[in-house]
Amino acid sequence: MLLTPCPRTRPRPSRLRMPTLRRRRTAALLASAVSVCLVAAAAPAEPLGVGDRLYPYLGNPGYDVASYDLSLTYPGTNDRPLQAVTTIDAWTTADLERLNLDFAHGTVRSVEVDGRPAGFTSAGEDLVVTPEHPLAERSRIRITVRHTSDPVYREDQQGGWVRTSDGLAMANQADAAHLVFPCNDHPSDKAMFTFRITAPNGYTAVANGLPAGAERVGRDTTWTYRTQHPMATELAQVSIGRSAVVHRAGPHGLPLRDVVPAADRTALEPWLAKTPDQIAWMESKVGRYPFETYGVLMAQASTGFELETQTLSLFEKHLFTEPAYPRWYIESIMVHELSHQWFGNSVTPRSWSDVWLNEGHATWYEALYAEETADRPLADRMKAAYGASDRWREAGGPPARPKPPAPGQKIGIFRPNIYDGAALVLYALRQEIGTPAFERLQRIWVQEHRDTTATTSDFVRLAAAVSGRDLRGFFQAWLYGETTPPMPGHPDWKPQPPARTAPPRARR
Ligand SMILES: [Zn+2]
Repeated sequence: MLLTPCPRTRPRPSRLRMPTLRRRRTAALLASAVSVCLVAAAAPAEPLGVGDRLYPYLGNPGYDVASYDLSLTYPGTNDRPLQAVTTIDAWTTADLERLNLDFAHGTVRSVEVDGRPAGFTSAGEDLVVTPEHPLAERSRIRITVRHTSDPVYREDQQGGWVRTSDGLAMANQADAAHLVFPCNDHPSDKAMFTFRITAPNGYTAVANGLPAGAERVGRDTTWTYRTQHPMATELAQVSIGRSAVVHRAGPHGLPLRDVVPAADRTALEPWLAKTPDQIAWMESKVGRYPFETYGVLMAQASTGFELETQTLSLFEKHLFTEPAYPRWYIESIMVHELSHQWFGNSVTPRSWSDVWLNEGHATWYEALYAEETADRPLADRMKAAYGASDRWREAGGPPARPKPPAPGQKIGIFRPNIYDGAALVLYALRQEIGTPAFERLQRIWVQEHRDTTATTSDFVRLAAAVSGRDLRGFFQAWLYGETTPPMPGHPDWKPQPPARTAPPRARR
């Protein structure tokens, strides 16, 4: 994710991320958000989590999702709920008398487990399901939930659906997928996805992965898409709109498809045409693109951010049409989201405390691209980041131990400490182990952890193995220190007091 800068000023990398996001409230999603059917249970249902330090109630224990099948029926207007059926195939990892899904914004009509009616109720942001018979450990199970998916949120909520001027798009990071569909809403449980989106004829629906058919029946068309790689729930994308889908070939014949408002297709083409070269550039740095397709989704909406939804990154259309943004800057943002396909999507953080592995790397390639293609020296940006780093750490915590989001700001972990503050860690690492070892590390990292999840410790271990160095002290200081260690090779870099010019607007 990357926050869109304020277009009224010429953006400068060191203070670009000025949010326009509405805040979400931690306590916002109460039981009343899900209509319930109470069942007798031995103990009261309670919300569960997988122990994420930053989002304790995300995810659920006791099962591992293999695949999601989401059927969504769009009513032709984005202010009414979609009718939905979510089918989850999972393996149990414990004996279960009941299980929790994350789901907190929709009406549940029925739940079945293995084709048999199951009881359900809500607890916190969880949908608690009681199957007819207890489930044994290591069973393959199928959970079918018939529900609505409501794209309308309260003023103080930030949901997964984004209402565009012509339909819907999706932005679930970090914790909003379960406001769209029932799921195990934590990046540690990646799964395969199938989307079946029914919309009135005249709309175009696109989702992650490759198309698997479009069937027109009467006044509606059902569009099917499948991922060929596992995906975290936070990276799901469904676009429904008056869209054009623009196809072209990327490196090695990689099928690219962009989704843009049909009326703007010609005007946006110069930007779309940049993707093949950007992929080739990333491949020259870290190796083969990890997925079956790529493209940009330009949405007519003011989200305040861009988002690396898997194989189809979400951008605000106005980023490309607002003249205040310099060309080099827009291109570097495109590369930021593209690089997330390797860093964050293919290699997914095991917990949200590892999110610096996403944003630090994406910021790194964003800045490196600007250096190599637009003469914006990386060292200048890193020196500025060094100057601000102590303040970022104080405000947001060290890069690998970010402070929890403040109450009412659940997505408040996206602070500068994990963007330029974490790219600064990578810069220090390159200074410490040298460019050849650093570049080898990057390549091996995305290769070894492809299609899986990984932790900060995994990165630290691999860096040590690749460089042949004991880097424990280095990483302890750079990733977990309250203050920023001296920069190797730049003894003159010092923390700087805040600039006296306009203070940054509230950060997300
Ligand atoms: Zn990002």
